[in-house]
Amino acid sequence: MDQKNPIIVANWKMYKTDLDAKVYLQEFFELLPKTSARVLIAPPFTTIRDVVKSRQYIEVGAQNVHEESVGAFTGEISAMMLRSISASFVICGHSERRRLFNDTEERVHLKLKQILLNGLLPILCVGETVSEREAGQTEKVLTRQIESALFRLRPSNLILAYEPVWAIGTGKTATPEMAADVHGFCRDLLKKLWGDVKVPILYGGSVTPETATALAAKPEIDGALVGGASLDAAKFVQIIKGFTS
Ligand code: PEP
Repeated sequence: MDQKNPIIVANWKMYKTDLDAKVYLQEFFELLPKTSARVLIAPPFTTIRDVVKSRQYIEVGAQNVHEESVGAFTGEISAMMLRSISASFVICGHSERRRLFNDTEERVHLKLKQILLNGLLPILCVGETVSEREAGQTEKVLTRQIESALFRLRPSNLILAYEPVWAIGTGKTATPEMAADVHGFCRDLLKKLWGDVKVPILYGGSVTPETATALAAKPEIDGALVGGASLDAAKFVQIIKGFTS
């Protein structure tokens, strides 16, 4: 990890109204007026604009995007719309989207393309289920997810997030050693695909203030994607401090 500039992403999922977000940010910036970490927050669509306005050093992005640029897709949001409200990144391929909303590998690839076409930074999430891990399939699954998402693409700007499905929202964190092993594997794979490009690799899956420091100590881990614990400003600040101290 770049010890001085870890990347810490908050995924608020379907939590927080505008008012909740205002209260949160006030507390957050009071507790952490500045940091050497790169902090990114992905609020729900309805709150992105307000979080963008109130931002100091944080980057603000979206949790999802539609795979087409425009069209009769009731209820959907395009990458261009996100860009027009100054979102700067989009989470793509999150396991909740893959599992609950039919974000297939093909759709993840198309979404990634839209994100890049619109000059936004993609945070590509990959990870194996518990049965895939137990069957010794982790590397195979990750290879498939990474290669399909990036098929014929070579983004100059990309963040990869390793999020084992069994660790998301379950309270079960991968040990720092397990995460570091998988990060090493992903880094080698990217090197094979693209040569020596710099892609930060974050760990996600029940990261808490208690587990942050040990994860941060692993040089293979460039930061964290945090769901549940990022909903509490004080906990999120502690996680950031755990990665920067
Ligand atoms: C996530 O939503 O990407 C995530 C890692 O969630 P949690 O931290 O709650 O496991």
